Amino acid sequence: MIKMLVCDFDGTLDGGSSHGVNRLFDYLTKQPDIRFIIATGRTLPSIRVGLASNNYPKPHSIISDVGTRIHHNHSQKPDHIWHNQLESSWNKSKVESALAPLDFMGERIENHQGDYKITFEGKLSDPQYEQIESSLKLHGVDVHLTYSHDWYLDITPRGVNKATAIHHLLKQHKLSVEEVCVAGDSANDTAMLTIKGVNSILVANHYPEVAHLSDRDNVYTSRATHAEGVLEGLKYWQLRTGASR
Ligand SMILES: [Mg+2]
Repeated sequence: MIKMLVCDFDGTLDGGSSHGVNRLFDYLTKQPDIRFIIATGRTLPSIRVGLASNNYPKPHSIISDVGTRIHHNHSQKPDHIWHNQLESSWNKSKVESALAPLDFMGERIENHQGDYKITFEGKLSDPQYEQIESSLKLHGVDVHLTYSHDWYLDITPRGVNKATAIHHLLKQHKLSVEEVCVAGDSANDTAMLTIKGVNSILVANHYPEVAHLSDRDNVYTSRATHAEGVLEGLKYWQLRTGASR
């Protein structure tokens, strides 16, 4: 039985028709037992603006900044346990020093940066990406890199991404991965879409960078795009897990 739906925002929930958003909203309203969670690469202020732009369901929790920030309830109370845990494993200035010699890192837009996340924007070639990895290693910096949309490079503490943030929520709510549906469209969703045992939805409009995930048994690739694709996938997994209505 599905008790939690975790949705990426840009390109997954957002970007399609308002009709699709309304259908998902209506469906979730009738199923109050499903906790609705947003998991995005955006910062909290940015996702707040995004969520206010349409009739999106109100999330019970928001995972923002690629998993490095979690806020709960409609009051968006910060999850101090999660944030304190990251504090000890994150040294921003060490990351910055390791990357300072590289002149191809792209733009660092101020309001896209998080307390535990550095984001560079620009196209990177494979050799450049490898150079970034080597430079971090050389400086003894152990972090997690996510390159998505062939444009965004997110640097977060080692082992921290949307998937680990979801595991944190599962522990809090005493849920198992089999009771969760996750939906995404790009490489920063890969970690959560590939959680062992989770029920995943890859929306039809996904990026080529994640097309290979369609072959996995735990991944349902929807025919519809965006929010309509999420709803289609949610219903599919509800049927499969024996709780359709
Ligand atoms: Mg996305």
